[in-house]
Amino acid sequence: MKNLKNALLLKQLYLLKQLGYRYTSVTAYKEEEPDLTLPNTLEKLKKQAVECHLCDLSKSRSHVVFGEGSVEAELMFVGEAPGAMEDSSGKPFVGRSGELLTKMIENVLMCKRDEVYISNIVKCRPRENATPTPEEAHTCQPYLLKQIELIKPKIIVALGATAYHYLTGDESEISKVRGTVHKQHGYTLIPTYHPAYLLRNPSAKKEAFEDLKRIKALLN
Ligand code: URA
Repeated sequence: MKNLKNALLLKQLYLLKQLGYRYTSVTAYKEEEPDLTLPNTLEKLKKQAVECHLCDLSKSRSHVVFGEGSVEAELMFVGEAPGAMEDSSGKPFVGRSGELLTKMIENVLMCKRDEVYISNIVKCRPRENATPTPEEAHTCQPYLLKQIELIKPKIIVALGATAYHYLTGDESEISKVRGTVHKQHGYTLIPTYHPAYLLRNPSAKKEAFEDLKRIKALLN
């Protein structure tokens, strides 16, 4: 919530700068206190995210990729950011990485894709598929935290280093932490390789398979 408040404050300061202020205290510009609480349903939260312009990624997006799946999911997957296919469809993980993720869910975890919930650290596509900047990730974080609060998953799978980093604050390499079990904020977090990494490095699929078996055991 602090990030959202800071982003709104920054927006006010930019506005004042455009109006000609060279130095100002924010109190010079009084507006009604904005309601910073995020809605308590996924539907309303999505509506708010779809209208979000808090960072530059909103300027180049075609669609906000909010996330999809079951509101009652026990298992949630968090990736990094939408790619080109996701940006044009508005759905997470629908490209080649998405096909692999769907196979991992259906063939190893033996769940249907629509029984789990899938989202990303940032909801809009970074240009040239860049890794989201810390500013972009932190500005978008309240949406993800609220999704987690509303869905209350038992297990969150962090797909790749970016998801792991922003969900835990730990910047360790994914190869060092994959498969480890972290109890935090009322859920269990398990990092594993991102499907895009597995497509580029098929030999790592063996380790990802072990991680998925651990996840399945914890779910049952
Ligand atoms: N990679 C991600 O991290 N997320 C998507 O939604 C698609 C590809």
